[in-house]
Amino acid sequence: MQYKNIKKTISKYKIPIIIIICLLFNILIILNYIIKINSPKPKFKQIKPKITFNQKIDYYKPDKIKVQNINPSIISNKTIYLTFDDGPSYLTEYILDILKKENIPATFFVTKGQIDKYNNIIRRMQKENHTIGLHTSTHNYSYIYSSDENYFKDLNDIRQKVFEITGIKSRIIRLPGGSSNTISKKYNQNIITRITNKLTEKSFYYFDWNIDSNDASGSQTKESIYNNVVNKIHSGTNIVLMHDLATKKTTVEALPYIIKYAKENGYTFAKITKNTPKIHHHINN
Ligand SMILES: [Zn+2]
Repeated sequence: MQYKNIKKTISKYKIPIIIIICLLFNILIILNYIIKINSPKPKFKQIKPKITFNQKIDYYKPDKIKVQNINPSIISNKTIYLTFDDGPSYLTEYILDILKKENIPATFFVTKGQIDKYNNIIRRMQKENHTIGLHTSTHNYSYIYSSDENYFKDLNDIRQKVFEITGIKSRIIRLPGGSSNTISKKYNQNIITRITNKLTEKSFYYFDWNIDSNDASGSQTKESIYNNVVNKIHSGTNIVLMHDLATKKTTVEALPYIIKYAKENGYTFAKITKNTPKIHHHINN
């Protein structure tokens, strides 16, 4: 009996019950909306010099990269030439991945150190349209700066190696220690003056840098590398010195942040060619 009565009552108030449920549901939606619009919105955080790096950088995985045919080497009144010395190493691949993801070109001044192990990396540099520059074969100061003959022998050795791998005879050069180095004085007086003159005579193009990431000194963190670069870049030509030696992990970690800052501040990226404005240090020997 009781059950029948309940059934009867429900049937009698069927429509009002449905209306009440619908109303409650609508009230819930409205309440949810009000809470949403009143809650603080996430703000876009622009990277500024002296940023603190809280997040860990995950290296880009090559199989996650879909961008093809990179490197529109755009030269503007605010151009950055990223240069990486002393590679290739296992880190070079990560640098190439970042450059590919960001769709920008760079320049690598290679040595013979681990080149046989990373032939495929050199070929990838070529395929992805970066500049492969020469940094000497041995990078051994006491050998290369002891005579003009040794320097050119060593340079030709790496040039030949790059040619065997890529078919390119590079004419883009960076002297170990830069053309301002004074270490060479220990081995041969005035050798840098003679070498740089001969390079120019032989139609080679040597490049120093005007922005030092300072990643060559041992204790640099990714934060300090980032700050060293972004605090110094300016309008005109910026040739940035970095390294892709196996020990320079923090350089790789700083790189995406440097690129992000540069892009957000109107810089374009280009690779070094023979037509790039010559950034030459003062020669001290
Ligand atoms: Zn070097």
